[in-house]
Amino acid sequence: LDAVHHERTFQGHSMLAPFTSGCQQTEVEPLIIEKGEGIYVWDHNGKKYLDALAGLWCTSLGFSEERLMNAAWNQMTKLPFYHSFWNRTSQRPLDLAKELIDMFKPVKMGKVFFCCTGSEANDTQVKLVWYYNNALGREKKKKIIARQKSYHGSTLSAASLSGLTPLHTGFDLPASFVLHTDCAHYWRYHLPNESEEQYSSRLADNLEKLILKEGPETIAAFIAEPLMGAGGVIPPPATYWDKIQPILKKYDILLIADEVICAFGRLGTMFACEKYNIKPDLVTIAKQLSSGYMPISAILLGQHIFDALASYSNGLGTFGHGFTYGGHPVACAVALETLRIYKERSILVHINEVAPIFQTEMKKLASSPIVGEIRGEGLVLGIEFVGDKKIKKSFPAEWGVGAYFSGQCTVLGMLIRFAGDMAMMSPPLIITIEEIHEILRISAAALKATEEHVLE
Ligand code: PLP
Repeated sequence: LDAVHHERTFQGHSMLAPFTSGCQQTEVEPLIIEKGEGIYVWDHNGKKYLDALAGLWCTSLGFSEERLMNAAWNQMTKLPFYHSFWNRTSQRPLDLAKELIDMFKPVKMGKVFFCCTGSEANDTQVKLVWYYNNALGREKKKKIIARQKSYHGSTLSAASLSGLTPLHTGFDLPASFVLHTDCAHYWRYHLPNESEEQYSSRLADNLEKLILKEGPETIAAFIAEPLMGAGGVIPPPATYWDKIQPILKKYDILLIADEVICAFGRLGTMFACEKYNIKPDLVTIAKQLSSGYMPISAILLGQHIFDALASYSNGLGTFGHGFTYGGHPVACAVALETLRIYKERSILVHINEVAPIFQTEMKKLASSPIVGEIRGEGLVLGIEFVGDKKIKKSFPAEWGVGAYFSGQCTVLGMLIRFAGDMAMMSPPLIITIEEIHEILRISAAALKATEEHVLE
C-alpha cells in the first residue's frame, strides 16, 4: 500500500512516528500533493483524491476558493506585514477581533488574542490563566485539568495538556502542572446497564474527586474539546457538559473550550459551545478560521479575564507574551473573507442539509462485523474497528486495521486519517450530496476489503 501514514513528515526525509499501528519504523516515500480544486486534491503522479479530512480538519471551503486568494493578494499589496506589539497593530486584526466577538454567541467575549497555530494558542491559554491567577493574588492556583485522549497541540504545554500517550512518551511530558481526567466516551467506557446520563454523572463525580484530592485552591482551569477530535471523534455523552460546568463554577475553575476542530460549522452550529450549551471563559479557535489557507489561530477571552490581566501589576507594566506573526494582516484578511463567505453562502444551512445524510448513511456501515462504533456530529465522523464486537475487543495493534482501511481508501482515491483502530473524516464543509455519496461508496468498498483482509 502506498498509504502508510506517518504522524509528521519531515522535509528532506520522512520519519514514522510511533503514533500509528501497522507502520514500520522505516522511511517511506511521502504522498506529495500538488494541486487542489473543490474538495479534491491531486498527487504529483496526477492521481485524484477526494480529501475527506479537509487537509487536516481545516479546508472548509475546499482547495480553490478564489476569494480567499484575492483577499490575501489585496492585503499583500496594501500592507503585507505588521505586528501587534506595544500598542501598534494594523486594521485587519482589529476588524477580525470585532467580527469574532460578534459571532460568538454562547457568552459575551471581551477581547481576542491572535496566534498562528492551535498549539501556540493553547500554550498561551496556560500562560493567560496563570497570569490571571497571579493578578488575583492566587499564586497557588496553577494546575490545569485536561482529559485522557484529548489533543491540544504539540508544543510543550499543549502536548502536556493532550491526553494521548505518544505525545508524552520520550518527551518527558506531561509537565507536572497538568492532570488528566476521564475521556468522555460512553460506548467504550460505560459500565453494564449504565445510561449515558448516569455515565456523565460518574465522570462529573470523578472530576470533583480529583479537584478535592488536589485541592481546589491549586486548580486553575479545565480545558476540553467540546467534541473530541483527534482522539477518535468522540461526541460528549448526554448531559456531560451540563454536569461538568457547575463543578467548575463551584470551585472557581476557568473553562477553556478548545474549538480548534469544532468551530465554524463543523458540528452544524457556528461554535460547538452553542450546541452543547457551554459557557467558557476562554476559547481557542484556528483551522477553519481561515479555511486553512493561512496559519492563524485566536483566543477569545471573557472580559473578566482581560480586566484581571489589565489590573495586574507585575512590577514591569508589560504583558510579556506575543508572537511576531500574531495578528498578521494577510492571515486576518483571509480569515475575514472566510467568515464573510460562511455568512453569504449560509454555510450552516448547507451543513445541516448534507450532514444528516452523511451521518445516517455512514452509520449504516456499523453493521460490519469488524466495526464497533461509528460516531460523529455534523460533518465529522469516526469509525472504531474491533476484533470482537460483543466485548469491544480491539484488534492486535500490529494488525494495523485503521491503517489498512485508510490505505484502501487512498488506493480508491480518498484521503482520511487513522490512529490505531480508528478512522476519522471531516470533509470540507462545501461538500455536496453527490460527493457524500462518493465518500459512502469508497468507505463501503474499503471496509469490504478490510473485512476480507482481517477475517481471512
Ligand atoms: N487543538 C485541537 C483540538 C486540535 O485538533 C489541534 C490540531 O489538530 C490543535 C489544538 C493544534 O493545532 P495546531 O496543529 O495548529 O498547532
